[in-house]
Amino acid sequence: MNKKFTEEELRHYYKLLDEPLTPYDCGKLCAPQNGGEPFCCILENAVPMLYREEFKYLSHRTKLWKRWSSSHPQDKKQKKDEETPILIFCECKGIAHCERENRSIACRTFPLEPYFNPKGEYVGLIFMREFTGKCPLIGRLKDIKQSVVDKHYEFWRLIMEKKSDEYDLYKSTSRGWRISATKRGIALPILYPSWYKG
Ligand code: SF4
Ligand code: SF4
Repeated sequence: MNKKFTEEELRHYYKLLDEPLTPYDCGKLCAPQNGGEPFCCILENAVPMLYREEFKYLSHRTKLWKRWSSSHPQDKKQKKDEETPILIFCECKGIAHCERENRSIACRTFPLEPYFNPKGEYVGLIFMREFTGKCPLIGRLKDIKQSVVDKHYEFWRLIMEKKSDEYDLYKSTSRGWRISATKRGIALPILYPSWYKG
């Protein structure tokens, strides 16, 4: 079952996701190859998905966000097929207008998502498979701060307690990652919280 987040919860989530992933500005790694903008802030590369109540919450705080719309038939199909009862596609005004405190959960968590082991246990975070070869942090996992991994792990634990759709989704993406990694003979790009014993 999916339960709605309260504003207080959203404030807490944003606090958990405030710290930058790396000790340096990782946008400087990818921007030179992307016309001077961070890869993940370019709409054509990644359309952020916001929780429906998160979009409402942000709409009260800022004019940075609006629902994503496109006249391109393929985009219309994507919107129809991929928006869910809990998540909607949104767009911001772009990097020149970014408001750090009003970045979405999607902005703050990119490029990491929850990882479930083969026993179905939530054990850590994993690099999003669809962005391997696109976001350079895949080759710099050691640069991602342990304090960030710990807080993001806790964040996703809270989210999945409230949104069972997310729990199901990430169990499935973790399975997909394992199949792909086995086929390609590569190690899974997993980051564990500091208390993980293995
Ligand atoms: S998260 Fe990846 S794609 Fe986004 S700014 Fe950092 S290095 Fe670039
Ligand atoms: S809100 Fe800021 S961080 Fe998020 S996509 Fe827009 S420019 Fe990037």
